[in-house]
Amino acid sequence: MSLQNYLKSKISRQAIRNSAQWQIKHRLHDLKLWDMEINDRGHIAVDSLDTINLAEQYGSPLLVVNKKRLVNDARRIQGSLADALPGSKILYSYKTNCVPGILREIHDLEIGAEVISPYELWLAEKLDVPGSMIVYNGVNKTDESLVRAIRRDIASINIDHGEEIERIYRIAKKLGRKARVGIRLGLSSSQFGLDMKSGEAVAACRKIASMSDFLDLVCIHFNVTSNAKSAAKHKTCALAAMQFMAEIKNELGLTISYLDIGGGFGVPTTKNMSGLEYGLYRTIGSLPKPPSVEECQPIESFLDEIIKSMKRMCSKLDIEIPSLIIEPGRFITSRSEMLLARVQSIKTKSDGTKYAITDAGRLSITFPCDFEYHEIFVANRPDDSLTTFYNIMGRVCTSADWMFKNRYMPELQPGDILAVMDAGAYFSSYSTNFAFPRPSIVMVNDGTSRLIRKEETFEHLTAMDAPEVFRSLEKLHALK
Ligand SMILES: *Cc1c(COP(=O)(O)O)cnc(C)c1O
Repeated sequence: MSLQNYLKSKISRQAIRNSAQWQIKHRLHDLKLWDMEINDRGHIAVDSLDTINLAEQYGSPLLVVNKKRLVNDARRIQGSLADALPGSKILYSYKTNCVPGILREIHDLEIGAEVISPYELWLAEKLDVPGSMIVYNGVNKTDESLVRAIRRDIASINIDHGEEIERIYRIAKKLGRKARVGIRLGLSSSQFGLDMKSGEAVAACRKIASMSDFLDLVCIHFNVTSNAKSAAKHKTCALAAMQFMAEIKNELGLTISYLDIGGGFGVPTTKNMSGLEYGLYRTIGSLPKPPSVEECQPIESFLDEIIKSMKRMCSKLDIEIPSLIIEPGRFITSRSEMLLARVQSIKTKSDGTKYAITDAGRLSITFPCDFEYHEIFVANRPDDSLTTFYNIMGRVCTSADWMFKNRYMPELQPGDILAVMDAGAYFSSYSTNFAFPRPSIVMVNDGTSRLIRKEETFEHLTAMDAPEVFRSLEKLHALK
């Protein structure tokens, strides 16, 4: 072993050993954070349903959505916005968890749709979301989808790059209908939006104003962060956006109806790893610390802080206060869903490393665990103390299919059911059918469960393939 490798393995082992302390001390052990409890069999129960029974009934892996929790979180964010700024809209970010059975529940609460692709727009139409409750964002809007968006008279098509302006104008003119559009401001270092400093964003507004026979500029939009634990970033960007609105009003005489501050509202039960934490997790395999639940600003004060500073800024700039659009994804669905996965086998290698092989890993369902902290429990004995490090692995035959590295767990046995929390944001979205069909999703409510998505079948995985390739070898030989 080279000196470098020797040092790396020594540092790595020490860091992992140290992590046991805080994994015990700081993990989020309070099941009430997700409205769950331990039942009289000692199992985790959700809405009084035993998770072990659910895994037996529907098979594993299994995604479980708790409707009560989903409705509560949605209502909380609605309550935080209620009446604060008339005409405001809450639009759920489809890309966060694009499962129709979940979207149905969200829309039934009169929350709309924020879509970023032609497919998502199609799905919102299919779910009968009124045009006034749809905003179309994204970097890849096809002409065909713009036709649909304009026909449906949606609240705003937010322009991400200048080229879109003429395209939308041309399509609107052809349809003989006016299109409502917005401008996405590029307020962070990413590929998105139009730059304010270089004058690109103002130029875009001028162009839209010059095409006012078929374009109506109604919205200024940004989306700058994810899982934000406080209002600070949104607030700074909202103020910059309002200054921009004042500029537009002064130069072009346009009053803009909506400020769309995007999503990114945080939840207390997960956190994004910092760059350093991510690097250490990748290179030496030491898990980052769990989030501190108290550090997450409650959504009520989060939004209140933004609205108050918007109001102050508007009176200072002497512009009309716009209505607010928010596009929460994670906040609404993260905590209402968990993943149940089964431990298939335990392997101990000669160097002592323990592997727990499960039926769900990052290459099929748990990709967000790569860069976010997620809590995990043994659902059939959640109270057992943590004693042993495991590399918790997935079902695909590649060494890259881990779920967690060096997670300190109770001693695991084949047949244990693991519950991975906060599966409601980006688990289904990133899931793949790498070598296995994607799993079922059930929704629990009032002590009963129902399938909202069946497990994929092998036939699904081959449904789009040319039928003539499924020929027997004998037939192939006969053809020769
Ligand atoms: C992803 C996204 C959201 C939702 O983000 P969350 O972090 O899930 O709240 C909202 N708006 C846009 C434009 C997005 O791309």
